[in-house]
Amino acid sequence: MNMSSTDCIFCKVANKELQTKIIFENEDFLAFNDIKPVSPTHLLVIPKKHYKNLWEVEDKELLGKLLHTAKEVAKQEGLKDGFRTVINTGDNGGQTVYHLHVHVLGGRFHKWPPG
Ligand code: 5GP
Ligand code: ZN
Repeated sequence: MNMSSTDCIFCKVANKELQTKIIFENEDFLAFNDIKPVSPTHLLVIPKKHYKNLWEVEDKELLGKLLHTAKEVAKQEGLKDGFRTVINTGDNGGQTVYHLHVHVLGGRFHKWPPG
């Protein structure tokens, strides 16, 4: 659980150590396609800096920018009919990759509540 940034798959994406197509990039964040998409559009927005998850972030400006970036990504991808943003935190939240990320899901209707 206490994964250091050197073994973190999303840090490798952020450091361009993996061949991952970058869909969106700004100063602090990157967005790329989820490897196992559950919607026609399924992007992950990550801070370039490693944070395990929401528990670890106290930087309110960064959190605000993260959500704003998710919206910019949705806009760029043409999700004008709406989209779902998800942040899974910890084991009960269903988090599997311990580098903070926002899922941006679009291109179909997303029912509520989720499973
Ligand atoms: P979580 O369950 O932690 O909220 O979401 C992790 C997401 O990362 C999953 O949707 C999974 O498909 C995706 N994922 C895991 N490994 C990789 C990878 O190496 N590349 C990409 N693009 N996505 C990944
Ligand atoms: Zn990381």
